[in-house]
Amino acid sequence: MLNLREIFKPQTIEQAAQLLQQPDTVALAGGTMLLAEPRGDVRAVVDLSALGLAYIREEKGSVALGATTTLAELADSPLLRALANGIVAQAAHRSAAGILRNQGTLAGTCISEPDGILAVALVALDAKVVTVSPAGASSLPLQQAGGGGFLSGRQELLRRGALVKELQIPLSNPKASLQTVARTPRDKPIVSVIAAVQVENGAAREVHVALGGVSETATRALVAERELEGKQLTAESIERAARAASTGLAPRGDYRGSVEYRKEMAVVLARRALLELLA
Ligand SMILES: Cc1cc2nc3c(=O)[nH]c(=O)nc-3n(C[C@H](O)[C@H](O)[C@H](O)COP(=O)(O)OP(=O)(O)OC[C@H]3O[C@@H](n4cnc5c(N)ncnc54)[C@H](O)[C@@H]3O)c2cc1C
Repeated sequence: MLNLREIFKPQTIEQAAQLLQQPDTVALAGGTMLLAEPRGDVRAVVDLSALGLAYIREEKGSVALGATTTLAELADSPLLRALANGIVAQAAHRSAAGILRNQGTLAGTCISEPDGILAVALVALDAKVVTVSPAGASSLPLQQAGGGGFLSGRQELLRRGALVKELQIPLSNPKASLQTVARTPRDKPIVSVIAAVQVENGAAREVHVALGGVSETATRALVAERELEGKQLTAESIERAARAASTGLAPRGDYRGSVEYRKEMAVVLARRALLELLA
C-alpha cells in the first residue's frame, strides 16, 4: 500500500462502518492480500481486529460465521466439521497453507478469491452475507443461483464502504461432497465442485452443485441441479446431471487449465461428487 497514511482501530462495528465511508479507505482483516498487493489507491485502513467478529455459533436456524474468523478456526471447528460432511472446514483447510490459515480470514478470503474453494463450499450451502453500513445492516445471498449476489457485486459494495459482518449458513445439513483437481494434492484447485443434496426416500431434494475455477466467481450448475431435482439418485440420473454440469460455462483458460479442460473437469468432478453421495 504505497500511499498508506492512516490506520484506524475502531472498537465498535458502527464506528468501523462510519470510517469505511471515507475516501480511499478499506477494511484490514488478516492483511495477507492487502499487504501483498502494491495498491496505490489506499490512503487509510480500518483494522477490524477489535470488533469481536471472530466467532462460529449456532443461532436462529443457521450457523453464523463472523467475518474475521480465521481459516484455521473454520478448519478446526467441531460445529463445521459436523455440518454437511464438513465441507466448509475442509475448504478452509484447502484454501491456504498453515501459516496463512492462522492469519487469513473468512471475509478476506471470499473477497480476494471469489471462485476459490471456500466460496464454492459456502455457495453450495446457500450462505448469506450480512453487511453493515451507516444506514444499517442488510443481508444478501453470497451468490444467487442464476447469478448476482455478494460475490458478483462485491467490488461495488466495497467501493461504497460496506463492511462484511458475518456469513450465515442455513442449518439444513445436507449430504455433501467436495471434489477438486489440482497440479499437486496441496496446490490450489484448478477446478472444484461441491454437490450438496438432501436425500428423502432415495430422491434428491434441494440439489446444489457449486463450481469453482470456471468463472469469475463461484457459480451454480443450474441445469445439472434441475436435471436431478426430485429424481431417485441412481447411476443413470447422476450421469445425466453430471453431463449437464458444463452447460453455459465460459471459463477463462490459462496456463493451469484450458477452457476445454475446465469444462470437462466440471463434468468429471460433478459425476464424482454425486456418485459419492449415492455411495
Ligand atoms: C504467500 C501468500 C500466498 C497467497 N496465495 C494466494 C492464492 O494463491 N490465491 C489467493 O486468492 N490469495 C492468495 N494470497 C492472498 C491471501 O492470503 C488470501 O486471499 C487471504 O485468505 C485473504 O484474507 P485476509 O483476511 O488476509 O484479507 P485482507 O488482505 O485483510 O483483505 C482482502 C480484501 O478483502 C477486504 N476485506 C477483508 N475483510 C473485510 C470485511 N470484513 N469487510 C469488508 N472488506 C473486507 C479488504 O479490504 C481487502 O480488499 C496469498 C497471500 C500470501 C501472503
